[in-house]
Amino acid sequence: MPLAVVPTPIGNLEDITLRALRTLREADAIACEDTRRTGRLLAHYEIKRSLVSYHEHNEERLAPELAERARFEKVALVSDAGTPLISDPGYRLVRACIEAGVEVEVLPGPSAAMTALVASGLPVDTAVFLGFLPRKGRERTVLLDRIKREASTFLLYESPHRLAKTLKDLPAETPVAVCRELTKLHEEVFRGTAGEAAEHFAEGVRGEVVLAIRGGTAAEPTNFEEVVARARGYVADGESPSRAAARAAKEAGQKRGEVYDRLVNS
Ligand code: SAM
Repeated sequence: MPLAVVPTPIGNLEDITLRALRTLREADAIACEDTRRTGRLLAHYEIKRSLVSYHEHNEERLAPELAERARFEKVALVSDAGTPLISDPGYRLVRACIEAGVEVEVLPGPSAAMTALVASGLPVDTAVFLGFLPRKGRERTVLLDRIKREASTFLLYESPHRLAKTLKDLPAETPVAVCRELTKLHEEVFRGTAGEAAEHFAEGVRGEVVLAIRGGTAAEPTNFEEVVARARGYVADGESPSRAAARAAKEAGQKRGEVYDRLVNS
């Protein structure tokens, strides 16, 4: 028997497929994050099945057990909303099934990231999903730097409290779309620049948010001093002067040694 990965609505309860409903109805067990929340969803569709609580704190322990169970019984996996595994539990269970030779059947369905990408009005040719951006530290700096330099559309799950800070961490002219409360009553898609969005949401924002960002708009350094300034920025982020000089020089096609000399001697 396969493990069935079943996406559920991200707001609007009509966004569930006939196949998802049939799969849930036929399941011997449904693994879910919050049994009360999934219980409400199932009650809405008049489905009564046994629920197993499977969340980030017990998934390591439960994944092999559930994978074993999926050999003989129909096990379905859902998360609180949207597609399991996508910034939600489930990866370990899918891995455990693959390793145990249990088939994994993935049903297509709602995900806030894909909905936001399409709604954003930003190019869809190359899209990069980053999940939740780290709150601070070097990993955040590196990702923000990547966004500034890479010509792709980036999709971020963003907490409403941190939206303003992330918008301010981007160059003001960066094209963005703030996709809020998708498929819900107060759905809003704000399209503009990061500067405009920061102003629009200056009073704060409520609800769930996906931030879509068109990357690659930061001006490349055009002269030697700007390359050295970029290297200085990398040092400030924690890189050694020699690595920072090598990186900035490579990015701008300059000589590593010259950038390094100026960096350490000025
Ligand atoms: N697995 C889910 C999916 O496939 O979209 C995502 C789960 S993640 C824990 C929750 C985040 O997804 C929220 O903080 C928000 O960034 C985004 N999100 C979920 N529903 C949303 C909605 N209706 N509108 C905007 N963003 C949403």
